[in-house]
Amino acid sequence: MNGTRPALRPLDDALAELLGHARQLEGVEMVSTFDADSRVLVSDLVSALQVPPQDNSAMDGYAVRVAEIADEGVTLPVSQRIAAGNAALPLAPGSVARIFTGAPVPPGADAIVMQEDVETAGDQQVRIVRVPSAGQWIRRSGEDVTRGAVVLAAGERLSAGSLGLAAGIGMHQLPVSRRPRVALFSTGDELVMPGTIAPEAMKPGTIYNSNRFFLSTLLRKLGCDVTDMGIVPDQRNATIAALQEASRAHDLILTSGGVSVGEEDHIKPAVEALGTLDLWQIAIKPGKPFAYGKVGAAHFMGLPGNPVSSFVTFLLLVRPFLLKLQGATQIAPRPVMVPAHFNWPRADRRREFLRARRNDAGGLDLFPNQSSGVLTSVVWGDGLVDTAAGRTIAHGDLVAFIPFSDLLA
Ligand code: AMP
Ligand code: MG
Repeated sequence: MNGTRPALRPLDDALAELLGHARQLEGVEMVSTFDADSRVLVSDLVSALQVPPQDNSAMDGYAVRVAEIADEGVTLPVSQRIAAGNAALPLAPGSVARIFTGAPVPPGADAIVMQEDVETAGDQQVRIVRVPSAGQWIRRSGEDVTRGAVVLAAGERLSAGSLGLAAGIGMHQLPVSRRPRVALFSTGDELVMPGTIAPEAMKPGTIYNSNRFFLSTLLRKLGCDVTDMGIVPDQRNATIAALQEASRAHDLILTSGGVSVGEEDHIKPAVEALGTLDLWQIAIKPGKPFAYGKVGAAHFMGLPGNPVSSFVTFLLLVRPFLLKLQGATQIAPRPVMVPAHFNWPRADRRREFLRARRNDAGGLDLFPNQSSGVLTSVVWGDGLVDTAAGRTIAHGDLVAFIPFSDLLA
């Protein structure tokens, strides 16, 4: 080290550069609509029909001609019965039709009288006790979707509601981006896999590997095919071999730990030996060290080892990159402004992402320990407060809050 500190990179610059490297994956997969949750649609879905297909009743009741019911108490014969799934005949003049929710409105009828506003008056006769207004309780054809409309646009990340909408226009399969193929490994000679050594038998200096579990979970939620390569020892040759293997047939190599410039940090020289590397000191807290590069055709991203740093840099940098690879249009999380119910008197030189959660009073409480090693904070918290560099927060200030529900989906 020459004693000068490397300039810290603003997060937005780093993200813009990363997204510039993320070209949309080629390859479309047709998947069952049942299995398309959280995949990204690659072409517009255009409806070949109206939804609902016909005018239909929003109530159980009687289909009527409004002009025939000028006053309360008019009594008319029931000329047909139409249940959901039936076809309707034209409404005979001077009559009403018994109708049920979802059944097609018979031609000629222009309102539905709900059954609560009708009294039966002898065999097949009803007395209308409330005068209907034109169009009441009729759900119009096409009020949800019109024929020819783009129901879902390319780039939509599918979820429960959009899958229902797609099924509603007859789609049993959907064209989605192929899954990004991601090779994942952790570095660190101190790491032990849970299940291999019991907690009471752990040697001094060793810890369980946490990052492997949340990183593979986050990747899979984002639609990735994950090759989990486990733990790679803190040795140059082992790191080079792992990177070489990972660069084959993967779109992204994701690592945690070993990305600083200490003697035990082998990621930087190994990536440089095989490909290209930009080591970025990003001006955020937690999560300063972050590396991006290429090994062969594969993108490489190195996350810090500290669990909270790893978690937060994944959400802020890796997640948008993987969404862009799949062609998603909604990439950036949308913060909401919420009053802080805490004080944050010590401003930092870096932009901070504080773990906080909403309280019942409509404000945000702060997790008391914001250390980058304390993973409890991301479980206790339900989102991140995005605080500008140099900013302090006083109780009652509005702050930008990114809910985990936006980031973990
Ligand atoms: P490093 O980035 O390799 O210098 O690691 C920074 C800190 O994070 C050290 O205290 C490591 O023990 C810890 N750490 C690294 N990798 C993991 C992991 N996979 N799970 C839990 N802690 C880790
Ligand atoms: Mg390490």
